[in-house]
Amino acid sequence: MKFLEFWRREADRFQAIVFDIDGTLLRGPHQLPGAAELLGEVRLQKKPLFFLTNDGDHTLEQKCSFLVRAGLTARPDEIINCLSGLESQAKKHDWVGRTFFAAGELGELERVSCVKLERDLGRLEHCAGVILSEGVYDWRVNWEAIVNFFRRHPERLFIVPNPDGYWPSPASGIFGIGAGGQARCIQLILKEMGVEIEPIYLGKPHAAIYEHTLYELERRFGVEPEPECILMLGDSLASDVRGANRAGFTSALVLTGITTPEMAANADGEFRPGLIFDSIA
Ligand SMILES: [Mg+2]
Repeated sequence: MKFLEFWRREADRFQAIVFDIDGTLLRGPHQLPGAAELLGEVRLQKKPLFFLTNDGDHTLEQKCSFLVRAGLTARPDEIINCLSGLESQAKKHDWVGRTFFAAGELGELERVSCVKLERDLGRLEHCAGVILSEGVYDWRVNWEAIVNFFRRHPERLFIVPNPDGYWPSPASGIFGIGAGGQARCIQLILKEMGVEIEPIYLGKPHAAIYEHTLYELERRFGVEPEPECILMLGDSLASDVRGANRAGFTSALVLTGITTPEMAANADGEFRPGLIFDSIA
């Protein structure tokens, strides 16, 4: 079934629609068939929409420009990324104003104001925790310091905005290592030392990014959100479908990205998509 046909029939059931980007609307730098038409229809319907991405390497403007360059309509304020939920989590857990050591680069990290960011490894000891990002940085120097920090202070906070273990580059066919993969390496090393730590992930499929989506829906559109009336369309069972299901959203899988029909048919529990589509159009 094509998603566009479903949406034309059923859009009235939903308060909002939330899109994954890569594998759902874009493949590499190109839009997937029907993506522009679908976004056009959603906008004509004046239905709130958001783009949810774990990509924290780019700013909201940069991520938006990828969509625009592919011929899709998008605004930076429609993009919710893995760092977007940090402020509400900081308020919820009383991290506001505390100092965190920031390892690596994250597109939006420079704009964070709810917590203070420390870049000097020599001051790590005085930090409430670590925010682990991506980009190009010296893994060896940073990881050794972070491992030794958590060995001494396993109770301090290990915040990892992007939970992804890896990310594919459609252009080169090569996989990059995501912040989630780095965090789990650090966690494993500590476990071998007998130290248990639990990273706090913020992106899909974890709660913070969905809580932020509900918050934005209410704040910007005056909609009192009913999670099951929010449709999340994505191509990943582990990230998009699982996250949407955990948040109580209606999950819809599209088979134009990383999930094969066999994987979709065998998915169960929180990985099981509410709806499955071959493509958007
Ligand atoms: Mg995707």
